[in-house]
Amino acid sequence: MPYLDNNATTQPLPEVVDGVRRALEEHWHNPSSVHRPGQAARHAVELARASLAGLIGVPARQVTLTSGGTESIDLAIRGVLGASGKQVLITSRAEHAAVRNLAERLEQAGQTEVRWIPLLEGGVVDAAALPGLLEGAALVSVQWANNETGVIQPVEAIAAACRERGVPYHCDAVQWVGKMPVESPPCDLLTFSAHKFHGPKGVGGLWVRPGVRLRPVLAGSQELGRRGGTENVPGILGAGVAAEAARAWLANAGERARLAALRDRFESAVLERCPGAVVNGAGRDRLWNTTNIGFPRLEAEALLLAMSERGLAASAGSACSSGSLDPSPVLLAMGVPPEIAHGSVRFSLSRFTTDDEINEAIEIVATCVDRVGGSMVR
Ligand code: PLP
Repeated sequence: MPYLDNNATTQPLPEVVDGVRRALEEHWHNPSSVHRPGQAARHAVELARASLAGLIGVPARQVTLTSGGTESIDLAIRGVLGASGKQVLITSRAEHAAVRNLAERLEQAGQTEVRWIPLLEGGVVDAAALPGLLEGAALVSVQWANNETGVIQPVEAIAAACRERGVPYHCDAVQWVGKMPVESPPCDLLTFSAHKFHGPKGVGGLWVRPGVRLRPVLAGSQELGRRGGTENVPGILGAGVAAEAARAWLANAGERARLAALRDRFESAVLERCPGAVVNGAGRDRLWNTTNIGFPRLEAEALLLAMSERGLAASAGSACSSGSLDPSPVLLAMGVPPEIAHGSVRFSLSRFTTDDEINEAIEIVATCVDRVGGSMVR
């Protein structure tokens, strides 16, 4: 059964499942307790933090552990705005809903001015427009790679512009970390999430460069006062195991090239078998694992259901918006025409995707596009 929905979530590795189970059995004590088993749990959490920090090339003490990408983003944005006298946030309409919706809410609440960076073709932010927006800004938040298209943002140029004007730069790297190496973050705050690299759900982190002021969102004494709440010890230990496995895998760049070729083969075969289909974000730098294909005049939901009946898992837009018939706001914002956005499906590979899965997926997509296309009256 081909699973091509890895940007929504990845399957936890067997050693991650094992790590979570062992943590539940052996380290169920509170890591803030002073007794010996509590301190053993603390030690295990700190080892996992070091593994996660190693994946993004930063010292462990600079990483705050959270309940995942959404919470890390919330802490970065609210935390920096809360600690700053300035109330201007700069972001883009291509961001994941965790950023976009938060920005819109802050804007609607009336205390924050949100400046939207213009998007170029393919949904790449116009880094050249950024310096003109930075005056009086508290924070810039631009993702590293897009969850729907895999399009990679010019993070180095964004970071350079921010550095020059002394504005902190938060990067939502949820789709990047674990798939691509990070020698040292180009930004000042970086968000990651373990379930995108074969770890458990509900665990992630926020790296904050020393000197960046952040006001905690969740009150409490844990995580050096940055994030209250008893640590999710089993999840954190599982995430640490996933981080070590990802680091080992990332050491071999050839593997990424092999999988990019597999994605390209899938893409070419689908375009060939489905006349009129287009790749959203084509021609831009993209993550090796993602392709977003628009099938004109088809409804993505009908296609997803037909594919699912045949055992192929994919997504339309972000997973969070499935079930709604609205086309993805990110695709619309990047200039994809509505008739293509309506019929756009995201296929995302993992490092374990096989040739056989891709062969089977090509057949299923071609059959379903044919079948759903024949029954559509739009
Ligand atoms: N940011 C991006 C780019 C994502 O793809 C996701 C999840 O799909 C998130 C943030 C949210 O992460 P989490 O599911 O860990 O809350």
